[in-house]
Amino acid sequence: MKTVVKFGGSSLASAEQFKKVSEIVLSDKSRRFVIPSAPGKRFPADIKVTDMLYICYDKAKSGKDIKKDLDGIKSRYQEIIDGLNLKLSLEDEFTVIEKNFKDNVGVDYAASRGEYLNGIVLAKYLDFEFIDAADFIRFDESLALQNNDFDAEATNTMLHKRLENVDYAVIPGFYGAYENGKVKTFSRGGSDITGSIVARAVMADVYENWTDVSGFLIADPRVVDNPKVIETITYRELRELAYMGAGVLHEEAIFPVRREGIPINIRNTNKPGDSGTWIVESTCQKSKYIITGIAGKKGFCAVNIDKDLMNSEIGFGRKVLQAFEDNGISFEHMPSGIDTLTVFVHQDEFADKEQKVVASIHRLAHPDHIDIEGDLAIIAVVGRGMKSTRGTAGRLFAALSFANINIRMMDQGSSELNIIIGVANEDFEAAIKAIYSTFVDSV
Ligand code: ASP
Repeated sequence: MKTVVKFGGSSLASAEQFKKVSEIVLSDKSRRFVIPSAPGKRFPADIKVTDMLYICYDKAKSGKDIKKDLDGIKSRYQEIIDGLNLKLSLEDEFTVIEKNFKDNVGVDYAASRGEYLNGIVLAKYLDFEFIDAADFIRFDESLALQNNDFDAEATNTMLHKRLENVDYAVIPGFYGAYENGKVKTFSRGGSDITGSIVARAVMADVYENWTDVSGFLIADPRVVDNPKVIETITYRELRELAYMGAGVLHEEAIFPVRREGIPINIRNTNKPGDSGTWIVESTCQKSKYIITGIAGKKGFCAVNIDKDLMNSEIGFGRKVLQAFEDNGISFEHMPSGIDTLTVFVHQDEFADKEQKVVASIHRLAHPDHIDIEGDLAIIAVVGRGMKSTRGTAGRLFAALSFANINIRMMDQGSSELNIIIGVANEDFEAAIKAIYSTFVDSV
């Protein structure tokens, strides 16, 4: 049995948290590969080390004195080292870091030092080997045009080989490097991705992602009081919920493990007894509720486009979408009727370009009429259980109607995994509450 474990910033923010982490890792011999984040917040008003590094590098770049900032970062690590009674000095590391900051080696290098140093401290504390991610997580500049320059295959080959004969190791999260050694980070929260990459490379049985919550919740706790934890969710369900900002796991982290069928277990460092959420490829386990989760977002615009006989005009949809593409706008949903088509876009992206897009649609597709409606929210109700249950949509609409909420749009994916509804921004919270109470509270 081989387990890869990733610990988030709050799990490694202080010596006290390090002790919990060590207990978790050492209590199970299969936990062989550990991926740390940089020290996070110790209390709500605290600053994450990664943010301190960004600020410090910014100052270095504009030629300002960074001594105080570097001392502040140093003291975060020293507090941990002292609290753990470790015989370890990071002086030499900080000398190199200071020089590199002054030489302006790059903002990614700067940010990556949070994970790098935390990896050194954790490896020492656990007595595991330290392996620098810069040597084995590979980025390739020639892939940059595709908006993602991570070289998954080269990384997998190198990492697999490097870890083949390693029993226990700490590999810092969040960064790798180009072939020429220049450090590159993933986007914020990217240690989750590193954990997934390592899990794939060693063909782990499980990828445990330890954080400060006991898994995914069925609904946003800011909207619903004390929502229940999702016990098991499939990768596909999570994708349907993740793009709405479920927030616990970096959305790119599922791809490396998903392709190998490795499950992810979200766990709580502060409550290790909780079983957390399992993210799996497929399961015959029925969830207790018909729905797995509800997620949503405010701030959408609906662009309604009408044209008589649209249904028989070949290429109409393509021309409409061309207008959005030409203006650099991605769309979220596109429900359609026989002579009408609606494109949902993010209002903040769309607002400035609105009239340009309208003009482009007219020029390219010659519609009869275009109508724009703003301040809409989209809510995704997701659940593998909906497929085999009759009346789900009916219950959903009844719940919303009972709560006096007008549905502006609805769209059920043909996979029957999700029902998407559009409501006014101001109805967003009430709609989620009504759905939760119908499908979860009443069970
Ligand atoms: N430390 C990085 C961040 O704050 C990466 C991570 O924590 O996963 O975004």
